[in-house]
Amino acid sequence: MRLANLAGRAVVVTGGGAVDLAEASDGRFGPDPAAVFDHWDDVMAFVGGLGSHGAAPALVPVDPARLGPPSPTPRQVFAIGLNYRSHAAESGMEVPSVPATFTKFPACLTGQEARVELSGDTVDWEVELVAVVGRRADRVRADRAWDHVAGLTVGQDLSDRTVQFAAARQFSLGKSFRGYAPAGPWLVTPDEFTDRDDLGLGCTVNGEVVQDARTGEMIFDVAHLVAELSAVVPLLPGDLIFTGTPAGVGMGRTPPRYLAPGDVLESWIEGIGTLRTHLVDQGS
Ligand code: ZN
Repeated sequence: MRLANLAGRAVVVTGGGAVDLAEASDGRFGPDPAAVFDHWDDVMAFVGGLGSHGAAPALVPVDPARLGPPSPTPRQVFAIGLNYRSHAAESGMEVPSVPATFTKFPACLTGQEARVELSGDTVDWEVELVAVVGRRADRVRADRAWDHVAGLTVGQDLSDRTVQFAAARQFSLGKSFRGYAPAGPWLVTPDEFTDRDDLGLGCTVNGEVVQDARTGEMIFDVAHLVAELSAVVPLLPGDLIFTGTPAGVGMGRTPPRYLAPGDVLESWIEGIGTLRTHLVDQGS
């Protein structure tokens, strides 16, 4: 199932359009895309039975520019640094023995076709698989962790490298300028993937491939991240885990290369889709 936030309403994306969850359920579920994660099992059961009795649900067109982040107001956003050996190597850092965790403050989330203002001239790209929590996870073992994941989406961990490494490192602030967490275009439930632990992912800048890897190369996979994080603090429905980026960021190049106004960033993950982001000058 593909669940999306279409202009602030929860919809199920099908081949021919989208089904509005509130309308199809006669108001049993509200339109708020954030609320579906509070009733995840009921929503899944309802969507599974859609169209099995009565008329097929009405379809609305999907305008990509109106797709917001699938979980628009998570209470917690976890992000993992150095979770691919290739990226740790290009960053000149040791591979960590525990997940290197920071946050992206939730108000920096945005969606498909977002226009994101660059905060300076050292802003970098980081394509990442994002796991969305569907059921509260408190001290969950890795072998049960996927039961707590609603689905997967594409994310960008946009990073102002100057701010990130200022004041003896402040990853969370340097990665939380307005719009610095594009996510989308929709959430795909784990059952849709042949191998949910090994998906191709990458990104292009103005059509040039700059990152191209597989999530199977992660040091801590989704299940282990849920286990490690939920050992510290409960994960709540709608929470996001940005799982880290592979090699190919601009900071790791010689000379370094950063995003410029007018650049178009396209981030893709196999089985999910492509998330497009437009970088613009401040004030434009
Ligand atoms: Zn990252």
